[in-house]
Amino acid sequence: MGAMTKEQIAQYKDVYVFAQQVDNELSGIALELTSEATRLAAELDDAKVVAVLLGSDLGSDLTDQLAEYGADRVIVVDDPMLKDYMTEPYTHALASVINEFKPEIMLVGATAIGRDLGPCVSARVATGLTADCTLLEIGDFPLKAIPGKEAEQKHKQLLMTRPAFGGNTIATIACPDNRPQMATVRPGVMQKIEPKKGAQADIIKFNPGFEKNAKYVEIQEIVKNVSDVVDIMDAKILVSGGRGVGEDFTLLEELAEAIGGTVSCSRAVVDSGWKPKDLQVGQTGKTVRPNVYFAIGISGAIQHVAGMEESDIIIAINKDEDAPIFDVADYGIVGDLNKIVPQLTEQIKAAVA
Ligand code: FAD
Repeated sequence: MGAMTKEQIAQYKDVYVFAQQVDNELSGIALELTSEATRLAAELDDAKVVAVLLGSDLGSDLTDQLAEYGADRVIVVDDPMLKDYMTEPYTHALASVINEFKPEIMLVGATAIGRDLGPCVSARVATGLTADCTLLEIGDFPLKAIPGKEAEQKHKQLLMTRPAFGGNTIATIACPDNRPQMATVRPGVMQKIEPKKGAQADIIKFNPGFEKNAKYVEIQEIVKNVSDVVDIMDAKILVSGGRGVGEDFTLLEELAEAIGGTVSCSRAVVDSGWKPKDLQVGQTGKTVRPNVYFAIGISGAIQHVAGMEESDIIIAINKDEDAPIFDVADYGIVGDLNKIVPQLTEQIKAAVA
């Protein structure tokens, strides 16, 4: 991948996001990314927020929603080939949009779809990609590591931050010599803006044409994972248990029911086979941001905290007063959860009765 010239780089403008939809419904990450793009665009000179919507028979409700969440423009590629996600037609569509419209920044959600699509597209348009980012900023990027350029800085670069080495450190990565600057972004990390009711975006219809080739797969059947478990990323109150709870989560389920919350857990609980992976909070689980997060019998390892520290109120219950969870907790109760949790549940039931 050779470096682009200054003149080539100057042709790339605006902050683009891949507006993921499944079954013609926008995924939450699409709106998180348009929201984040408004913050980034404000730091750049005269930059617009552009959503790229790929699919088949897409309704105007999707473009309206994207506009309400900050998109100034929506590029729509509507083709039967894009009905269900497939690597090749989606890669062709997004790479073609990039080659045609030249975005300065291209953000994709780090969902199952985005983790497949993002790297394929970045390879096809010959640029870099930082995967699984948790923070994006516009700033100066020093070239001190490049011999002969030690004193130089590149200005207004996308600085992409992600955990590295198993979460023990964080790395900030830039892509100064190629465009677009591409990142996949963890769902649940970027906060949605207040929607602007009735906002309208310019709609551009674009279709690069699709020719089936050997990389097209045939989808024979789609089997949906039917689950009656609430997505913990949508819950306003999470009652989260760790290894200290043990296999039996009844006490936490009773507390969750009394307070209208949902049960989640640490990785130790998933690794022990006590709860499914869907409920895991943390670096290799889900990033959550509820109004209230109960951390019960959870030590507060860095990888767990990475997934819940943005919660509005954190309440920790742990018998070890030195447990690191108390460093991030707003309220802490030191003691045996088997005594404290039932009392808490009783008090809450009495208060709402
Ligand atoms: P423990 O660390 O064993 O803590 C149990 C706590 O319960 C202790 O603090 C103890 O004092 C307390 N306790 C015990 N009995 C009681 C009682 N009766 N009353 C009150 N308190 C009690 N972890 C995650 O959670 N999510 C992740 O996504 C994640 N990703 C990881 C990724 C990598 C690459 C690595 C290396 C690790 C990851 N981990 C993750 C694991 C993480 O490092 C910890 O091992 C894990 O979070 C510990 O889970 P825990 O707090 O439930 O258990």
